Amino acid sequence: MPDVEVEVDNTELEQEAARLAALLSTGILDTEPEASYDAITRLSVEYFQADAALLGFADQSRVWIKSHSGHPVRELPRENSLFNMVLAQDGPVVIPDLAKHPQHTRPFLIVKGMDLAFVASAPVRSHENRILGVLTIFGRNPRVGMDPNELRTLESLADMVAGQLELRRLRNAFTVHSARRLRTSSPALATPSGWPQPQNLRRALDQRQFVLYYQPEVELTTRKIVGLEALIRWAHPERGLILPMDFIPLAEESELIVPIGDWGLSEACGQIQKWCREDPHHKSLRVCVNLSARQFSRPGLADHVEALLLQYGISSRQLGLEMTESSLIPNMRIALEVLGSLRRLGVSLLMDDFGTGYSSLNHLHSFPFDVLKIDRSFVGRMTDGDQPLQIVRTIIELARVLGMDVVAEGIETCDQYRLLRQLGCRFGQGYLFARPMSAEAVTRLLRLPGRVLPDPELLESIVG
Ligand code: C2E
Ligand code: MG
Ligand code: MG
Repeated sequence: MPDVEVEVDNTELEQEAARLAALLSTGILDTEPEASYDAITRLSVEYFQADAALLGFADQSRVWIKSHSGHPVRELPRENSLFNMVLAQDGPVVIPDLAKHPQHTRPFLIVKGMDLAFVASAPVRSHENRILGVLTIFGRNPRVGMDPNELRTLESLADMVAGQLELRRLRNAFTVHSARRLRTSSPALATPSGWPQPQNLRRALDQRQFVLYYQPEVELTTRKIVGLEALIRWAHPERGLILPMDFIPLAEESELIVPIGDWGLSEACGQIQKWCREDPHHKSLRVCVNLSARQFSRPGLADHVEALLLQYGISSRQLGLEMTESSLIPNMRIALEVLGSLRRLGVSLLMDDFGTGYSSLNHLHSFPFDVLKIDRSFVGRMTDGDQPLQIVRTIIELARVLGMDVVAEGIETCDQYRLLRQLGCRFGQGYLFARPMSAEAVTRLLRLPGRVLPDPELLESIVG
């Protein structure tokens, strides 16, 4: 028996170490309380008519408050906060009346400054789904509880925090990555064991280490989730989640991209089936899968896709395939044939990263695409001046003339969101709305009433 106990302890310790590593990679603990999060705690107070709201991140022993509304506090001992309960439950915690709660034996520290009765906390998760912190609302009076819609809204607000955190992590990672590159003057990928190499990719496939994350695509005027883009990650047992840019190019060179791509397609179809079983309304969602050049050079692709649709009992309207213009160029004749048969099947075809490759009007015209995705580099520069804005305007106009829908990628700010709507762009995706997340997290998001995400502009307007 003692052996078993030690084992359990170790797993917990490892989990906590991985959680702390994920927290440190965001750099959030090194900063003062942050104005950028104030909007979220203020909105939480207003929306829930609460007396206070706190957003905090937990290290080994303390919860560091990064934003507070209604009750100023900088930090809390971890055991006196709701964090441990959220972590243990791996989900939100609602206590209608603290006085009647069995765990009231250890009163929360914050009670000192405030007579608390009601508390509700939702987890802020890392991109690897580890709980880094909590968004909590407090009330002086007891409440009956929270209805499921309210709870989902609290969770979505916490997910918005997570989106901002993800941006911060990426910026940090970029700085570290560049520094490492400079120091070693060899590509960061050249490090030895376990790191992307053909044999490791093969093993990863056999050991089912790949996972699909999904990023919501919204209709910009309503913020209704209309689709999801499947984005592959490698859940490496030691290194955590590895992003596609660190292994897809290698997979493409080694032809392993074909079995990896096949896995991704059937995984996504299986997930579509699951979502539709959970709610038939989700049949209106389109899940899009990214394809590489090599996957096109196989004339059997359309048959393969058709077989998958049959196997999972889903309609072709529920599936989209994304590809870049440059992936079609090497073998235009076959590409045209394959796209033609996919089109006849009824799946949507999306041209990805538009504007970065050849962007030939001729290709746009001859390939049967339904949707054009504006590359995020253009969206990112939109507010930098007149010229980048004109480029986006022109792409949207071009799509309109060709009868294609437009999706803007990488929307990160309210200004970009506003401008895109003014320009008549119908759809978009980006961290401002939601980052790529696990199927499980997306399932929660899809339960929001009308599948409508919270309004990021509302957050901004409350800040004033
Ligand atoms: P993509 O298809 O253009 O995917 C969009 C990328 O933008 C994703 O990166 C997504 O996480 C990121 N993104 C989304 N919103 C924002 C935002 O607001 N700001 C910023 N800075 N980035 C945002 P990710 O997941 O790292 O994927 C990178 C690329 O890897 C994808 O670009 C796609 O070309 C490729 N890829 C991903 N999954 C697959 C796959 O299953 N098969 C193949 N062949 N390629 C894949
Ligand atoms: Mg894509
Ligand atoms: Mg793209």
